[in-house]
Amino acid sequence: SLAAADIAHSMHPYTNMRAHEQQGPMIITRGSGIHVYDTNGKEYIEGMAGLWSVAVGFSEQRLVDAATKQMQELPYYHTFAHKAHEPQIRLAEKLAEMTPANLTKCFFTNSGSEANDTVVKMVWYMNNALGRPEKKKFLARNKGYHGITVASGSLTGLAGNHRDFDLPAIPVTHLTTPHFWRYGLDGESEVEFTARLLKEAEDTILAEGPETIGAFIGEPVMGAGGVMVPPEGYWPGIAALCKKYDILLVADEVINGFGRLGTAFGCEKYGFEPDILVLSKQISSSYMPLAAIMVTEEVYGAIADNTAKLGSFGHGFTGSGHPVAAAVGLENLKIIEERDLIGNAARLEEQFQTGLRQYSDHPLVGEVRGVGLIAGLELVADKATRKSFEPAGMMAAKASAFCTEEGLISRSVYETLALCPPLIVTEDDVAEIILRMGR
Ligand code: PLP
Repeated sequence: SLAAADIAHSMHPYTNMRAHEQQGPMIITRGSGIHVYDTNGKEYIEGMAGLWSVAVGFSEQRLVDAATKQMQELPYYHTFAHKAHEPQIRLAEKLAEMTPANLTKCFFTNSGSEANDTVVKMVWYMNNALGRPEKKKFLARNKGYHGITVASGSLTGLAGNHRDFDLPAIPVTHLTTPHFWRYGLDGESEVEFTARLLKEAEDTILAEGPETIGAFIGEPVMGAGGVMVPPEGYWPGIAALCKKYDILLVADEVINGFGRLGTAFGCEKYGFEPDILVLSKQISSSYMPLAAIMVTEEVYGAIADNTAKLGSFGHGFTGSGHPVAAAVGLENLKIIEERDLIGNAARLEEQFQTGLRQYSDHPLVGEVRGVGLIAGLELVADKATRKSFEPAGMMAAKASAFCTEEGLISRSVYETLALCPPLIVTEDDVAEIILRMGR
């Protein structure tokens, strides 16, 4: 059987492999709109849009057509050493048009992890070019998620991604998670909490020496670490510190980008201008692997000058700007615009967020949080003390399994049950998601 073959030969990401040998896979066979179906024909609402990514749903014919057409015309070509092709050119142009005006240059990778790995190397390369080779350290946050390659996994601030992988392997300091409900001190207001975190960031910069810090990286709203919404004033404060100490600000919008928060980008929602913007997932609705790094003219200029000195930029992937992925990405972004899916997320935010917050009174729910069409329900063993269940994440995993039984795919991220439905959801879909979650 398929399940036996899977157990015999597949090693699954983020899976307890011994447990998998016992319980076997959940095999998904097809998708339609916001639904997916398993081998028994059972229907599920994909309340996570796959992995926070399938904005346009699971059966978008225009993306199939875009891929087919590109496969027929030019299934592959690379973009090394001055080579180019139309889909990659048009997609870079489109991204420059959609993203904030200061971000004009685009570099493609296949995944978010590769994109963040590339960001690390760009920051290092740029600072070598500028004659300040000591300006190499990164600031990131506990519970931030930036991927799993050696460099991006180092930026990630989650113990499970570090333990026994010998990470972090690059110089990075992880600051306090900007999540007031969990990390605010007794008696501290949200404003005081923000001020404390900004002081921690500035003290760290001064202790390490601003001349040693290359960049600060963060997700505007944290996703995989547990859906954490930043406190008021946090991002403008971080942006001001980065400016003051000449530190590049990297917004990792692999989840936030293209409407998830009800705005095109998280940096717009929270009022700051990154020097580097990292995009993936909803860029192609994950129909093809694709990620992009957008940088300012200043960052580009320093790197470009160095490539002139060294002969070339010695970095790039076989799949950088892959024509089929780029063609699908471009068509996907057109759909997001034409159907106003960003506006849809903004319009449904109130229904989705308020609807889920009715479960705040449940004895196991500590906090319901989120913005736009992303939300998390953090489960606690004790509401008064906010004490988590042990072992960590156990109850959220259980609750997520119950959701699956009820025909709603959610995702347990540590203590939190996450929802991040496709951006094409309707009012009726949102009502059904809330109902199934309630059951
Ligand atoms: N950055 C963020 C914010 C992410 O959420 C993810 C993946 O979930 C990544 C980076 C890594 O992307 P990938 O899994 O494509 O390597």
